[in-house]
This record gives sequence, structure tokens and C-alpha cells, in this order.
Amino acid sequence: MKVLVIAETKQGKVKKGTLELLGAASSWGAETSVLLAGANVAGEVDTLGRHGASKVYVADDASLGMYVTAPFAALVVEAFKKAGADLILFADTEMGKDLAPRVAAKLGLPFVPGAVSASVEGGKLVAKRTSIAGKVMETLEASLPALVSVKAGTFEPKEVGGSATREDLAMPQTDLRAIVREVLKETSERVDLGDARIVVAGGRSVRGPEGAKLIEDLADVLGAAVGASRAACDSGYFPHSCQVGQTGRTVAPDVYIAIGISGAIQHTAGMTGSKVIVAINTDPDAPIFSIADFGIVADLFTVVPLLTEEFKRLKAGNTVAV
Ligand SMILES: Cc1cc2nc3c(=O)[nH]c(=O)nc-3n(C[C@H](O)[C@H](O)[C@H](O)COP(=O)(O)OP(=O)(O)OC[C@H]3O[C@@H](n4cnc5c(N)ncnc54)[C@H](O)[C@@H]3O)c2cc1C
Repeated sequence: MKVLVIAETKQGKVKKGTLELLGAASSWGAETSVLLAGANVAGEVDTLGRHGASKVYVADDASLGMYVTAPFAALVVEAFKKAGADLILFADTEMGKDLAPRVAAKLGLPFVPGAVSASVEGGKLVAKRTSIAGKVMETLEASLPALVSVKAGTFEPKEVGGSATREDLAMPQTDLRAIVREVLKETSERVDLGDARIVVAGGRSVRGPEGAKLIEDLADVLGAAVGASRAACDSGYFPHSCQVGQTGRTVAPDVYIAIGISGAIQHTAGMTGSKVIVAINTDPDAPIFSIADFGIVADLFTVVPLLTEEFKRLKAGNTVAV
């Protein structure tokens, strides 16, 4: 089977989600190629090879530094034809959500969005995805060739120690209908939610900027990303870019610390792939405790500053106070 993985990069480096897709292709024993499009990205060919790619189609051009649909879609179509792929894998990110349907329409192929599992059985793509606000898990089958976008954390990146050959693609001549004129950057220097190994997330119960600062302080001492429930974002305590859940980001860090978050299904839909879940909540019956590995029944305004201080002490090399 031949798989084409569509790489995503940030500041010239391949994102974790791309390596997860390569982990999937490796676990299927597929012959895997990658489309690596962006600005100053060619240095990542070795990384992709080590993670299982045997061929990397490179389009390295300053004009690709910012994702725009038309040229990326043209490059995917070009790489698909060259690779003769049976399956195109996208990460279920803002880029994947925009790009995959466009490519599916261009190629006239089936597309399964937002899969939480995917495999090839009997010459067909078999993928599971949630629907109706996470209440229903549906299994979809698609004839090959097909496209599928996969949620973060569904597969594990795996170094297999190989190497990839590189083939440069010419810049496509597209009818450019949209250009990005300006990107309003978050001022935060924190790690991106999608790449974070630790996420500290706050809920509505932070009640305001002072409570939100407690979450941010704990995240900073842990080198973590800040997440939030939709209620907390809608209340203005955190930017919407922090929202985790069905209508926010899907994350799968090593540790997810949910603070003052009830555990509504629309929130947990975005974080159940986390390896270890820690919940802090005053209500011992809060639904979040049913999926938590560790729980603290306590007031966040008391326990979060204590945790922050203890982690600071640990980082300074001192012992933890009991
Ligand atoms: C179509 C749709 C899509 C949605 N998408 C999303 C989504 O993507 N992400 C998302 O998060 N939500 C989403 N929601 C909203 C979701 O249903 C919940 O309303 C939301 O997640 C609740 O946020 P919360 O847990 O912060 O607030 P609440 O439900 O109000 O829970 C607050 C929790 O904090 C606890 N608490 C209170 N005071 C303290 C304290 N001092 N210390 C510690 N704990 C305390 C309470 O016991 C409670 O469990 C969606 C809803 C719909 C209908």
C-alpha cells in the first residue's frame, strides 16, 4: 500500500502531528511518501526519513511560508499523482480542515474528516469518528484511493531510523484567489497547544483575570501550554485560541491538568487522547473525575498557587514541602 502524508511545519520544523501520521503509515507497513511544502523546510527531509518516509516531495519557497489553499492544493494533487498513493493522510488541524476537502473535490475522491482511528482492511479505508457532539461513534468505509484527516494523538510518532530520497516540485501556477496580508500574532511565547507535552487548562470557575493568571503561572513553571473550556473562553478569561474540545482544538499531551472544568462531553472530546489526566475540582461528582487518572477535590484558588510554588521549588532543586 502507498501512503502520502501531508506535512505541516512551524518555523521550518515539522509538527508533531505529521510525525504521528508517519507513525500510522509505518504501523501499516506502507510505502510512505511525504509532501513537505513551506519556506525553509527542506532541512526536515532527514527527520521525515527517520520517521518512516522513503520519499519526500519538497516545495521550498518563500511564498509558501504562510498556508494558502490554492498552491498547497495544487502541490498535494501533484505529489499524489507522482506517488501513486492509495491513501492521503492529513492532520485534522486548521490547515488539514481547509486543504483536504479542496483536494478531495479536485481529485473526485472520498474523504473521511476527523478520524480517531484509521486502518486499511480488505482494500478499503476503515475509519472511526465521533458525531452528534461526541455521543455517537461511527465507522466509515471508503474505497481507495481516499483521503482521511486524523485527530491529534490518534497515532504515536515512531523513529524507525530510515532515510528518504528527495524530489523537488516546481512551484504551481495557480489562480491565486486569496493571499494572507497580515497575521495577528498572539503575544504569548508559550508552546503551541498542539505540540505541548503538558497542557494546563482552566474552566469557567477561574471567574476572571486573576484566576486565569493562576492557570498561566502554573503552565509557565511547567513549560506547558494553556488550554481552556469554551465557557472560560466565552467569558473572556482566555483567548479562543486556547479552547479545547469539540469546537476547539484537539490535544493529546503526556499530561493534561483540567482545573475547574466540569468535564462536559464537548470538552472531553478534545482531550481524552491525553496520556495522563489530572483534574482539580471542588465537586467530587464532577464528570471530569470519571476520566481522570489523578484527582484533587479542592478549591483551585487554594491548590493551584500551592502547586505552582512546589514546582518552582522542585525546579530550583529543593525538596518538596509536605
Ligand atoms: C455544540 C456545542 C459545542 C461545544 N464545544 C465545546 C468545546 O469545544 N469545548 C468546551 O470546553 N465546551 C464546549 N461546549 C460547552 C460545554 O457543553 C460546557 O458548557 C463547557 O465545557 C463547560 O465549561 P466549564 O467546565 O468550564 O464550566 P462549568 O460547566 O460551569 O463547570 C465549572 C466546574 O468548575 C468547578 N468549580 C467551581 N468552582 C471551583 C473552584 N473554586 N475550584 C475548583 N473547581 C471549581 C465546578 O464544580 C464545575 O465542575 C460546547 C457546547 C455545545 C452545545
